[in-house]
Parts: sequence; structure tokens; C-alpha cells
Amino acid sequence: MEEPIKREPDDQPIESLREHVDGIDDAILGLLAERRRVSSEIASEKQRTHRPFRDEDRENSLLTKRIEAARDHGLDPGLVVKIWEQIISDSVSLQHEHFQGLINDRGSTAVVALQGIEGSYSQLAAEQFFRDKPIDISLLACTRFADAANAVEHGRADVAVLPVENTTSGGIAEVYDLLLHSRLAVIGEVKYRVQHCLLGTEDSSVDTIKSIYGHPQAVTQCSDFLGELPDVEVVFFGDTAMSGRRIKAMGDPTIAAIASEEAARRFGLKVLKRDIGNRKENFTRFLVVARDPVVVDPQIPSKTSLVLAVGNDPGALMEVLADFRDQNIPLVKLESRPTIDNPWEEMFYVDFDGNISEPHVQVALDGVRRKAKFVRVLGCYPSQDLRPQKRNLSVAAAERPRVKAAASRESAVALKADGYRLASRGHKTENTVIDVRGVKIGGDDFFVIAGPCAVESFDQVMAAAAAAKAAGATILRGGCFKPRTSPYSFQGLGYEGLEMLAEAGRIHDMPIVTEVPAPEEVERMSETSDILQIGARNMQNFTLLSEVGRSSRPVMLKRGMSASLDEWLQAAEYILDAGNQQVFLCERGIRTFETSTRNTLDVAAVPVLKQRTHLPVIVDPSHAAGDRQLVIPLALAGQAVGAHGLMVEIHPNPAEAKSDGPQSLDLDDFDELMGLITGKI
Ligand code: PEP
Ligand code: MN
Repeated sequence: MEEPIKREPDDQPIESLREHVDGIDDAILGLLAERRRVSSEIASEKQRTHRPFRDEDRENSLLTKRIEAARDHGLDPGLVVKIWEQIISDSVSLQHEHFQGLINDRGSTAVVALQGIEGSYSQLAAEQFFRDKPIDISLLACTRFADAANAVEHGRADVAVLPVENTTSGGIAEVYDLLLHSRLAVIGEVKYRVQHCLLGTEDSSVDTIKSIYGHPQAVTQCSDFLGELPDVEVVFFGDTAMSGRRIKAMGDPTIAAIASEEAARRFGLKVLKRDIGNRKENFTRFLVVARDPVVVDPQIPSKTSLVLAVGNDPGALMEVLADFRDQNIPLVKLESRPTIDNPWEEMFYVDFDGNISEPHVQVALDGVRRKAKFVRVLGCYPSQDLRPQKRNLSVAAAERPRVKAAASRESAVALKADGYRLASRGHKTENTVIDVRGVKIGGDDFFVIAGPCAVESFDQVMAAAAAAKAAGATILRGGCFKPRTSPYSFQGLGYEGLEMLAEAGRIHDMPIVTEVPAPEEVERMSETSDILQIGARNMQNFTLLSEVGRSSRPVMLKRGMSASLDEWLQAAEYILDAGNQQVFLCERGIRTFETSTRNTLDVAAVPVLKQRTHLPVIVDPSHAAGDRQLVIPLALAGQAVGAHGLMVEIHPNPAEAKSDGPQSLDLDDFDELMGLITGKI
């Protein structure tokens, strides 16, 4: 039998071909590196010459050219598109980092507050955020998210890095509420890829584990893996990295933790299993917050986050969102949370692609402010989503229709010389109508607020409320903190009085209004009072105005004793600018040379204001008159000049009143006034 001929494989040709390929690959890498360098130079040049960061036409024509060249070389155009899309995307993120690095250079070290300890995902996210910035960071580890925010607010840290949502387990409600209630501005975002690992001590293994420590969020995100270990007990732990530190300290091989690989390194633990999350793509989005907002270069793709409240009218949210659609602004996130003051009303958190300094974004925001009850921008910051732009390669770049969007856009209302914009008719032609538990302020129906100057006792406020309601008043007033001209006058019953007023309002089904004396009281008083009153003496207390501007309760702004109408409207602007769009004005008389009345009721103010502003205007004849004899005629004058409503002080026994007795109507007089107003008398 003949032996088959054994041939020694001749490796020579294939070896040399492989070497050749290696050489080509090296050259490709070298060229890619060089391409990156040039791309970075282009970024500097773009920034120097204020050219846009991304040029869609250039990206498309680059790809079109490559496709043509691919055909010449006999290559598959599909393959070439795939490769160049990756190259372009790398170049876009490189230029993005370049721009961002320059604008964010705010000093060389930053203290970063976060919830959790070393090795926590928050820390890893913070490191990722600062990686490309010329800033060293030091960490301030906090126990709760609120502590981290507080550290920034009080200057103990420069920024806080807070998780807001996870692609598997959803939004983090606590952080959303914190963003609304703190004064911090969002200056950046980080999308951190979470890769949960099962960590154990040196001599443990997946099979020997009896219990696993994990943060509830991490446990949810790894539920599939944990489901495969039915005999293992899961112990909830407040912090992922901390669970790692704890099991290290215990040194028990039957106990494992869910944390990052980085945590394993830091605590000297063993990774028993990598990537145990349900989803391969598990991202947590963190927001970076600071005391002051940043101004983002318009050349950088940016995102804006805002909070808004629209009320419960059908279609209200859709109408507001239409403003973004009309300006071609992509909404990238919509999340809702119940408002703290009113659990039946939602606050919506919206993220959109756009820079607040761009004219079309301003137009959209103005539109939103016209319709929403509350709008506050949380921040505008460089976007981490470098969304691939839509390409249409079948159409040659030159033929593509170029829509000059800006040309078709209306412009935002400019600031008037008199210092207000949002309060002006130019901003909003139709009247603002405020709905307080069904009572309309600024609508077609004339309405009356009545009640005592000050809440003195439960019986007193109840008697006034019953009479007010019976006579047709729809809102109950009562001072609880009385800013009196003399420190020796009755100062009010404070929060105890507010409870009495609220109880009387509940019993008689009337919304209540009371004066907020200082910024520190706004949050607490907003919990109980349906409307916040700013007194005449506080009309230019700008911190107080901004603070009520952050509340979602309607605000009644009284005219300062010697304030011009434009000064008054600028005071209203402070509230509107801070977010709260539900403001109405109350004319209560001004200081003039005339001493026969306590103040001079400026009746002309009403029609003048109605020309200048869309905000409702009411008249308070009581504080103008100072004398009950004059209250009815002044009230009728207010109605005659077109006020939307009145506020009148009444008392069951004016002679005994602890404040403003002489101008308070007794309950019969008030009944008569209501008869005259409604035309019944
Ligand atoms: C009031 O209405 O209770 C009050 C104190 O009025 P003013 O701020 O207008 O003086
Ligand atoms: Mn009074």
C-alpha cells in the first residue's frame, strides 16, 4: 500500500501576507491618530472663529465622497458608510470634549459632594465627568442626597453629582424633588454605564454564597441573576460601595455584595461574577449641580432641564408641549412628580435639546410661560447625547432643501425699557386667569375676598368666614403675621392663627389668603395657604419676591405705599421670572399729600394696569380708606373702573378688633356692600 504523500505546509507565503496586513493595520491606526489630531485643531479653529460645533452638510458630503471613492476602489459602500460613521462620531465626541473642557475651566480643584463613599457609582460618575477637564477633584462623601445638595448650597462643596434616573429601574424621585426645592443649577450631566458585579472575599465563590448585600436599586437591576440563586438571602443596604466595605470587614466567605469592579479593587475583594445586571445596556444618568448656572457656548450641543406645572385642564400639557414642537425643539425627557403643596397636581420635569440663549428656545419658553402656571429652568448644560444626525445619502448634499429655521421663527419679547417683560401685554395679550380651587381670579366674574385684618381667635375668624360666605365672598382672608408699623401693636397669632384660618376655610369651603412676612416662611406657609399675600411694606423685598416665585401657590402682590405702577410691575416680574406665573395685583392706596384718608386710592391705576399687563388687578378699599364710612363708596369705585375683584376687611365686632378696627366693616355692612356689588340692592 502506498503511503499518502505528506506535504509539509509551506507557511512562508501566508506569514508574509499576515505581516503585510499587520503593517496596513498599523498604518490605519497611525492615520486614525493623525486624523484625530487634525480634528482637534479644527475644533480650536471653530471655537476661535465662532463657527458651529457640528456641520451636518460637511458630515454628509464627507460620507458621500467616501461612497463614491469606495465604488472606484471596488469596495462595498455599506461597509465604508459603517466605518466612516464611527470615525465621524469619534471626531464629534472629541470636538465636543474639547469645547467643553475649555468652557468649564473654573479653577484647578473642585470639591465634589456625593451620596456614598469611595467606589460608589456616584464617585465613578464624578470621575468620568471631570476626566477630560483640567480640574482635580476631592470628594465630600455624604449620607443622603439632600446632604450633598446642602453642602453645595452652603459652600462646603463646589458641585454635587446626583443620580436622577437609571435605564432599568427608572427615575429617582427624591432627587427630582430636591432639584425643585434647592436653589442649585444643573451645570452638566453624566451618563455612566453601570456594570454590577458580585463581589466576595478571597476564598468565596458563587456556589458558597448564602447572603448578598445590595442597594435596593442594584437588587432590582440584578433581579434575573438573583432569581437563579433561590436559596440566597438578599439583604438591603443603603449604598453599593458601602455594602462592599461591609463584607470586606466581615470577612465571611458566605456573604457577597453587589457593587462595581472599582469597589472590588478599592476594598480588596474578589469579583465572583461580572456583569450580573438584567440588561447589558444599563446606564445611570447623573446631574452635576452647582450654586450658579453656567453659560454654555452656543456652538456646543446643549440640553436644558426645566420644571413646569400646568394644572388639570384637559389638554393643558399638550398645549404647553406644542410650543416646543412649533420651534422644532426635540424633547428628550418628560417625568412627573406630584407637587408638594397640592398632591393632586403634577410637576413635569422636561429635558430638551437646546440652549437657553438661542432665540427659538426663548420663543418656546415664552410660549410655555404664557400657558403654564409655573416654569423654572433648572439649568442649561452640555449634552452627553451626541445623537447621530439624520442622514439622507440618496440625495446629494447640495440638493438637500436648506430650511432656514430661524427666518420662520418669531422673536422673543424683548425687555421693555421699564424693566419688565413677562408681566407685559407684549408678552401675553390675553388676560391671565388664576384658578384657586375653582374660584377664578381675573376671569369675567367679579369676585370678593373678605375676612378680618388679623386672625384673633377661632370664633372670630369663623364668624367672619360664615358671614363672608353667606354674603357671596369666595375667598377668605386673615393676617397671621402682622407687619405693623409699631412694634408694640398686635403682631398676629402666627402659625396657630394660620391653622384657625385654614380650618374656617375648610368648613366654609373657601380658599384662604394670608400675608407671608419673610422668605424663610414661604415654604411652610405654602403648605397651608392657598394664596400667598405680599404686603405693601414688602413690595420691594426682592428676596421675598423671588422666594414666592419659587412656590406653586398664586401670589397676591399689594402695591407699595409709594411705588409707581412700573415699579410695581417690576416687582411682579421678580415673581414671574423665578417661575411662578400666577400673580395678581392689589391696589391698596398710596401716600400722597392728602391726609383725609389713610392712603389715596389710585383708581386710575386699574385701567392703566389693564393696558400694561395681563395680570389680574383687584382693589382693597379698606387700607386706602382707613375709615369704614368710606369703604363702600371706594369699593364701588373699584368695581366701576374695571377691577377684577375686591379685598375687604370685615370683623364680627370692629370695636374690639386688635388691628385695623376703624376700617373694618361689620358683618351687616358687608352684607350691604355685597348687595350693592351684585346689583341686588
Ligand atoms: C393687609 O392686607 O393685611 C395689609 C397689611 O395691607 P397692606 O400691606 O396693604 O398695608
Ligand atoms: Mn389690615
